[in-house]
Amino acid sequence: MISGSCLCGQIKYSITGSMSDIVHCHCKTCRKAHGSAFSSVAAVNDQDFNLSGFDHLNSFESSPGKERFFCSNCGTQIYAKRAGTEHIILRLGSLDDDPKVDEKNHIWVSQKAPWYSITSQIPQCQAFE
Ligand SMILES: [Zn+2]
Ligand SMILES: [Zn+2]
Repeated sequence: MISGSCLCGQIKYSITGSMSDIVHCHCKTCRKAHGSAFSSVAAVNDQDFNLSGFDHLNSFESSPGKERFFCSNCGTQIYAKRAGTEHIILRLGSLDDDPKVDEKNHIWVSQKAPWYSITSQIPQCQAFE
């Protein structure tokens, strides 16, 4: 089982199933939401994601049909959810354990921060792939 939590500890989650490979998203929305060069994410099926601390979970619709969920107390980004899907897009910075999955690619490299250089050898996609 893989566990994660927000910075203040009010929100905790565990993952009972498998996780997709890791995608590093450089889109402008992720950069703003996370306050960082990019956001590292992976997909988890809804039924495998067990969260506690809903009192502190808030969300923001960053684009039509896409909600970003975060802790209203400390601001940690936990996951995003697209309407009509059966998986969440976990924000891997909130993990407490090593998910032991591979890195897949960098996406939205066309919107990459000009002050950050990608040095890893995994594929780079200009948009979503
Ligand atoms: Zn928190
Ligand atoms: Zn993004």
